[in-house]
Amino acid sequence: MDNVKTINDFNFKNQTALIRVDFNVPVNKYYKITDDTRIQYSIPTIRKIISDEGKIVLISHFGRPKGEPSKNYSLKFLVPFLSEKLNTPVSFIEECIGSNVKKRINKLKNGEILLLENLRFHEEEEKNDESFAFELSKLGNIYVNDAFSVSHRLHSSIISLPKFFRKNKCIGSLMQKEIKFLNQFFLRKGNNPITVLLGGSKISSKIEIIENLIDFSDSILIGGGMSYPFIKIKGGKIGNSIPEIEKNKIKIIEKKLKRILEKCQGRKKLFFPKDVIISKSFENTENTRISSIYSIPDGWMGLDIGPYSIKCFCEIIEKSKTILWNGPVGVFEFSNFSLGTKSMAKSISNTTEKGAFSLVGGGDSIASLKMEKCDNKISYLSTGGGALLESLKNKILPGIKAIIT
Ligand code: AMP
Repeated sequence: MDNVKTINDFNFKNQTALIRVDFNVPVNKYYKITDDTRIQYSIPTIRKIISDEGKIVLISHFGRPKGEPSKNYSLKFLVPFLSEKLNTPVSFIEECIGSNVKKRINKLKNGEILLLENLRFHEEEEKNDESFAFELSKLGNIYVNDAFSVSHRLHSSIISLPKFFRKNKCIGSLMQKEIKFLNQFFLRKGNNPITVLLGGSKISSKIEIIENLIDFSDSILIGGGMSYPFIKIKGGKIGNSIPEIEKNKIKIIEKKLKRILEKCQGRKKLFFPKDVIISKSFENTENTRISSIYSIPDGWMGLDIGPYSIKCFCEIIEKSKTILWNGPVGVFEFSNFSLGTKSMAKSISNTTEKGAFSLVGGGDSIASLKMEKCDNKISYLSTGGGALLESLKNKILPGIKAIIT
């Protein structure tokens, strides 16, 4: 993507950078940040502008306040954390547009940082409202997008706001890193075997990825909730396991599933679990059985992959030179159904240690790597779940397009 400008193409001296970051970080009930990856990855962007002697205005969303101001979703809690990480005071204002904000920005000196309040306190943000974007555009003279994880969203600060900056817009270092590793993944042709492991429950968001990566990869391993619609269409009995497909999408999805199965017929490419751990209820129960995935009794549901499937999936992963992983292979939030996902995490990190390239995205996959304390062994942990999935469909994200045009 040579036509996308980066922060290195600008000198920010005496300029005000309006940086769209994604500081929607996970926190515990005391607002202690439990994973600061997104902030850490954006720090080089902020540092570059400080060292250029520019002024910094940070804009972000946090949670889902649904267009209403709410203390629970204020970004204020980030101020001490950011000040410490950046080793410089960060100030905060409880608004994100308007004359008060403008006045505070006018008082900023070179190298100073101001964090604005949650963009989603205005319903216009998620509605991609142009006049909201126009108000935001008055707050800086160079726009920087460093929010990969929301760059697939058609939101005001992502796609309308950059329009007002003409040529004065670019991506930050977090974005550069995400694009670099995604490119690295697609350039791995030749570093075979290439293995893609997909799990989770929402098949409709991942089916296009399978279609896009069939010819590119050697093995596609499918686990978790999204394996059951495939098994059902192959004639298996899946009991009460989730086929999480929106009613109006069932026909289209079924068509796509059939097309994928036909394309892979006789090609030893698509792998499903053979055995699964089943339960009568969706809870962390010890009352479980091992069943063939093709004959789950009525009233029972598959909640994790079984020991034989773990062994088969690990064997494929361990022979790979390139690995992509998104989505848990079971309900890993319940300890009794977490073994499959944890085993995938360990197998991918061990294989990476032996020299493979691995790219992992999605909060759940990263959380399971952290549970097993092997997240630091992965080649690249993407900060985007949905945005990573969209990129894997071979699409340029709307947020990146908005920087080009
Ligand atoms: P997704 O957002 O599509 O990546 O889905 C992630 C969710 O899928 C996690 O919360 C898992 O608990 C859930 N999940 C994985 N496997 C299963 C399964 N067999 N049945 C129900 N939910 C599952």
